[in-house]
Amino acid sequence: MVFRWVLLASAQRGSEMKISVGESVLELVRGDITRQETEAIVNAANSRLAGGGGVDGAIHRAGGPRILEECRAIGGCPTGRAVITSGANLKAKYVIHTVGPVYRGGGRGEAELLGSAYLESLKLAAGNDVRSISFPSISTGAYGYPIAGAARIALNTVVAFLEESGAVWLVRFVLFSEADLKVYEDELREIGAD
Ligand code: ADP
Repeated sequence: MVFRWVLLASAQRGSEMKISVGESVLELVRGDITRQETEAIVNAANSRLAGGGGVDGAIHRAGGPRILEECRAIGGCPTGRAVITSGANLKAKYVIHTVGPVYRGGGRGEAELLGSAYLESLKLAAGNDVRSISFPSISTGAYGYPIAGAARIALNTVVAFLEESGAVWLVRFVLFSEADLKVYEDELREIGAD
């Protein structure tokens, strides 16, 4: 993939990395996605939109019951697609719920479905005039997707979108652990070096 990116900041202790893609910014931070002040945060949901563990549970706990009510009204979401609800009690105005693939060895379209989960989330954000959005590391928890491969797909998809569209100004990946942040940083450097 050919694109231009500019390294804006990379802290020595590895706590944050920020690049510019076109007019937009892509950043990697360690943190809790429920506390982000971006206009939208993305939930790694299940296809029944029923809530659950991991980041899904954390978002529903922090946002309150209204999010689950809105999810019930929507009904469900196929793998690789995304739906939007309000952010209820969260700082974010919206939650975009997307469903990543369960990893079953890599031969069942997992890579395409994971890329689609990111792309559909970005399109939904742009369609709702969302200028800033935070993503967790979709599918790399309970769904078992190996994180290096998942990070590469996530970053490639976001960079390609930002190159094509000026609609979203800030995309932030919020990684829950230092180890996950490091994987994303390494993959972003590799993408830039390609
Ligand atoms: P999936 O079912 O898509 O694999 P999980 O929620 O199990 O989703 O895990 C996805 C990632 O989200 C994991 O790396 C997990 O550590 C991370 N995570 C869990 N809670 C939070 C949170 N509050 N903020 C950001 N990331 C989180």
